[in-house]
Formats: sequence, structure tokens, C-alpha cells
Amino acid sequence: MEYMIGVDIGTTSTKSVLYDMKGKVIAHANSGYQLYQDVPDMAEEDPEDIFDAVIEVLGQVIRKGKVQKGELKGVSFSSAMHSLILMDQDDQPLTRAITWADNRAAKYSEELKANGIGAEIYAKTGTPIHPMAPLSKILWIKNEKPDLFKKTKKFIDLKTYIFFRLFGTYKMEYSIASATGMFNIFKLKWEPQALDLLGITTDQLPELVEPTDTITGINSNYGKVLGITKDVPFVFGASDGVLSNLGVNAIDPGVVAVTIGTSGAVRVVVDKPVVDPNGRLFCYALTKDKWVVGGPVNNGGIVFRWVKDQLFAPEKITAEQMQVSTYDILTQIAEKIPAGSDGLLFHPYLGGERAPIWDAYARGSFFGLTRKHTRAHMVRAALEGIVYNLYIVMLTIEGVAGKPKSIQATGGFARSALWRQMLADIFEQDVTIPESFESSCLGAAVLGMYALGYIDDLSAVKDMVGVTDVHKPNEENFQVYRELLPIWIRLSRVLEPEYKSIAEFQKKHVK
Ligand code: ADP
Repeated sequence: MEYMIGVDIGTTSTKSVLYDMKGKVIAHANSGYQLYQDVPDMAEEDPEDIFDAVIEVLGQVIRKGKVQKGELKGVSFSSAMHSLILMDQDDQPLTRAITWADNRAAKYSEELKANGIGAEIYAKTGTPIHPMAPLSKILWIKNEKPDLFKKTKKFIDLKTYIFFRLFGTYKMEYSIASATGMFNIFKLKWEPQALDLLGITTDQLPELVEPTDTITGINSNYGKVLGITKDVPFVFGASDGVLSNLGVNAIDPGVVAVTIGTSGAVRVVVDKPVVDPNGRLFCYALTKDKWVVGGPVNNGGIVFRWVKDQLFAPEKITAEQMQVSTYDILTQIAEKIPAGSDGLLFHPYLGGERAPIWDAYARGSFFGLTRKHTRAHMVRAALEGIVYNLYIVMLTIEGVAGKPKSIQATGGFARSALWRQMLADIFEQDVTIPESFESSCLGAAVLGMYALGYIDDLSAVKDMVGVTDVHKPNEENFQVYRELLPIWIRLSRVLEPEYKSIAEFQKKHVK
């Protein structure tokens, strides 16, 4: 047998899946770690924990799959974007890994936005100016932790760290690099304007390689532990976001990947890097000739969870007694309300928002309430509001990447048939729910098979991903949404100037 392993280094755990060359899952493993939040806005992980997790999950799938010598053809990697680790002169970490969720650089990204430099850098890097990006994080460290900044030999990310530990070299592939805010996506080089701003040199950054580049010669200690010989190639791979597009078979032009998990995202593959004139979309590399344009959304399923916990506590108890999911009960309640929730609109910005409005002060609201409206209307309006918001991201993407043709949708939301249909109705597109199990691991494995010549084209993924459900837009519902959407959009603009005032009130008065 011939096997390929896909490893996905995530924010809360590292996953690994052993596949045969047809993409069939042979074995899988998962190992979690702690997120450190010692001070407000901090979100860090210990790189050592993550290295241990990678070794653990690799070892597990090799053992579970009873892989024999010579059968493992490659290991390929996916990882979360935007992490930052500072390494000292002795190649030891000076910091933990500062993750995308860490917000301590907010002041610096706001400054970059206000002084116009952010827009100039975004136009070359395709990474929205935001505290998530290493660009803002390094600026924060330079200003607020100058001692650390001065001691830094290399600024790297988690995946670079793992490869450093396994192979002893600092190399970062284009995909992770394209999410740092310091990489020129048109020239495929570190961007001098970003580096000058930070006061760092290319020597302080990893060497750039292609996502399909490979490396052999694993450190013999780890090779022995894992039973991996030195000739097994490791593929540098890409980031989890772009690989999940690949892993759900959304790589053809016009095929849009919509995810509604805890958060959400809309992403589409294009063959050249593109940026949004208003800086609202990211553009990250999948390979050097496939790029993923999209927008990340904070307010996905987490908003439905809020509705469940705060508005439907009694149903939660009933659901527990009946041993069914409260979400399923709420879906049944929402189903009785017509599309458009009898004119009740909901803006889902409970956790500030990234795409499409990029406003950390944004807050949620119901609009259009009358005495006729019930809690059932509220739950339906909330589900619709989450999808309207994703639709606005889609419209922004359409501006740079053209009209969508169909949607591949994934995430916890897909357990609700009502919500899936809503996506088809509001987007007026066919929605397909692909079979998705660890889609970033599958994406990594497929990229690995391509890199190593086992498949000629990434589209081979089509035969590896099944379909669970298909939804067609319902014309009647679409007409209702088409009437409501302009009101929803105008309302967003009307509310925008007041978000900061209410957020400041909350900061001052709400404990
Ligand atoms: P994550 O993004 O953290 O991996 P999931 O993809 O599992 O998480 O998504 C979790 C979200 O999925 C929940 O917040 C909830 O909104 C939604 N969800 C979970 N179960 C259901 C269900 N039965 N019906 C509708 N939505 C659900």
C-alpha cells in the first residue's frame, strides 16, 4: 500500500489523517493543547506543546494504520495562519506562539489604518490590516517589548517552527507568508515597505519556499520515534483556510466555499492574486498559481449559540430531557416562521466583526420589531442575519473575482436543513454540502500528492470528496430576501457611526 499523511496544526488541537492515494481515510488522530490567556486580549500557545502534539498524532496514525517501511510516500502540512514566534540567537523561542486570536496589537493596526500606510501595504500584501497579522504584532512588540525585539534573530510562525525542529532550517511557504502582512503577493518576495516599517531585514525572516516544495532528512531522533526513514519527503504545504477550499472541492473558478462553524468565511479560488480597493478581503496563496480570495467572519454559529443559551433556556432543558440537540428544536421553531421573519431584521455583530465591515466596535441589533413578533421570529431572523452578512462578503468578492457559480458549504450549520436552504435562498445559488472530515488535512494530503507527482492536477480531489446534501434556491423565498436585503444593507450603514459610541459606553459601564 502507498500512503500520504495530512497534518493540520490548528488553534486548539493538531489533527492528522492517514490516507491511501485515493484519499480514503485509513486512520486519524487528534491532540489538544492549552491556549494561554494570562492578560486581556492575549491568545498564546506553547510551541513545545504543539511540537509534541505533531509528533504524537503522526506516531498514532502510523501505528494505527500499521504502515510498513517504504509505504509512507509523504507527509504534508496545513496550519492556522498569522501565528508569530520570536527566536533568539541560539534558536530558542523568546516567546510562545502568538496566535491569530491575540488582539494586543490592536492599537498598531488602527494606527496603520488611520495614517494610510496600512492601505498601501495591504495593496501589495493582500492581508487585511488587523491585529491578527504578524505585521501588526511585530510593530506592537517593537514598540512595547523593545528588549525582546532586539534579541530576535528570526520572526517565524508555528509551521516554520515545526519544520525547524524536524529539519534544522527556517523555511516558510508562500501560503503562510501571504498571511503575514509582510509578503508581496505579486512579486512573491518579502515586501520592503513592510520590513522598513518594522525595522527588520529579510535575514530575520525565514527563507521563502513554494507550498509544493519538499524536504527530506528528518532529524534521526524523531525519525526513530516515528519509524520514518530519512528519505520520506515532507511537503511544506499551506494554510488551513486555503487547504480547506481544496479539501471541500471548491477549487474551480466560481465555486465558492462558505463555512459556518463557530465563526464563518467565504472563499473562492482565483488564478492570480487580487486585492480589494477597500482592503476588506484577503488574498492568500494555495500554490503559486492558485490564490484564495475571501473574507473571515466572526459571527457565525456562535450567534446561534447565543440565541440558544440566552433566549431559549427552557427549550434547552426540554432538549436535554429528550436527549436531542437544542439546535434541532430551535430549527423546528424557526421553520414555522416565513422567510424574511415577517420583516424582522437582525445584524449579527455580537463579537465585533471582521469581513465585511472590519469594525471591532460593531454590535448586534434586531430591527423592525412589532408586537406580532415572537421568540420564534427572533431565532429565524438571527439565522437569516448571519447569512445576510456572509452574502455581503460574497458581493465584495464578486467585485474582484466575478460571479459565483455554486456553493460548497461546510461547518456545524450544515446539520440544519432549514439553515442550508436559507443559504441557497439568500445567495440564490445551488448549495452542495460535501462530505467533510478534517478538510484541511485532506487538502494538505492532496497538495502533497500533487507535489510528489502522484496526481497531475489538484482537481483529482473531486473523486475523493462525496456529497451529503444539495439545495436549490426557492424562488418565492429569494424574492422576499431580495426585498429585505437592501434595507438590511442600508441599515448597516446607518448604524455604523453609532457602534463606537455604544461600545465605549459598554467598556465604561459594563463589568
Ligand atoms: P467549529 O467552527 O468550532 O469547528 P462547528 O463547525 O461544529 O464548530 O460549528 C459549531 C456551530 O454549529 C454551533 O455554534 C452552532 O451554531 C452550529 N450547530 C451545531 N449543531 C447544530 C444543529 N444541529 N443545527 C444547526 N446548527 C448547529
